[in-house]
Amino acid sequence: MECPVCKSKRLSLVYKRPFVETRTKQSIAECENCRLGISLPRLSQRALNSLYDAEYPPVIAKIRPSKLSDESLIQKLYRKFVESVIASYLALPPASIWRKIFTMDFMSLFPVKCLSPELSREDEILDFGAGSWWMVKLLRKHGYKAYGYDVFDECRQQDWFHDIKNSDKKFDEIRAFHVLEHMQEPLETLKFLKSKLKPGGRLVIGVPNFTSPLHRIGPNGGHFHLPYHRVHFSEESLEIACKKIGFELDSIISRSTETGYVSCLLNNRVSANNPAEKFWLKFGSTVLDAMRKGDAYELYARNII
Ligand SMILES: [Zn+2]
Repeated sequence: MECPVCKSKRLSLVYKRPFVETRTKQSIAECENCRLGISLPRLSQRALNSLYDAEYPPVIAKIRPSKLSDESLIQKLYRKFVESVIASYLALPPASIWRKIFTMDFMSLFPVKCLSPELSREDEILDFGAGSWWMVKLLRKHGYKAYGYDVFDECRQQDWFHDIKNSDKKFDEIRAFHVLEHMQEPLETLKFLKSKLKPGGRLVIGVPNFTSPLHRIGPNGGHFHLPYHRVHFSEESLEIACKKIGFELDSIISRSTETGYVSCLLNNRVSANNPAEKFWLKFGSTVLDAMRKGDAYELYARNII
């Protein structure tokens, strides 16, 4: 077997125990060259599809607006906070210094979630792996020409669904927020996305950071999300993957997720709904992001022809 990103054959098994998260008996091998993690055994797409059908209904449920009433008050307040941060970002002039400040490591307390500083209302943007559709709706609400794509049937019925696989349309920006780690062959996905970008078009990617201290504490520590995450990116592997496909790399920033470190360290005993705990989780993650050790990365690149 070889690394699906750098093609090195020097792989070593790093985690062997069954994972608590999904009780699947999987292991993770690490490429000694680019430090990409690879979930083993490599499942067929068919096997994974049946797992998605069985275990992803909570994601689908969020697509339906009525289900938002199931949110707790804290969840709702946090969502409103994130939406207001993104709204402020979108109101700033494209490519301005203020937009760039929002996409620096130490700004992860105010997460923008994978939108480039250059994005303008004249651009057409595709949310690839749009999930619960919230970003497409938010962008549209603020006057942006946003479209979404995801594999779930429910997504096809959403407004502004774009069937990227059966269309020749090209975009100014493609956003893939925590999507690439779900792919067996991430280089193929990047090549496909490049073919859907206009010359000079921008790619923005968010992925968990396999080399963060969080992931190094053991199989129950990080965002392994087995068996759905089939590869686990390091900064090196992310950079190699993008350059191999011919993207010009602008930057890679450390950008922790909300649930991040402490929750995992305590084996998920911390309730994400407790406001005080949530504050400390986010505060701790922000400090680690400033040190570039956060639990996730965001990559900004452009399509040079
Ligand atoms: Zn590799």
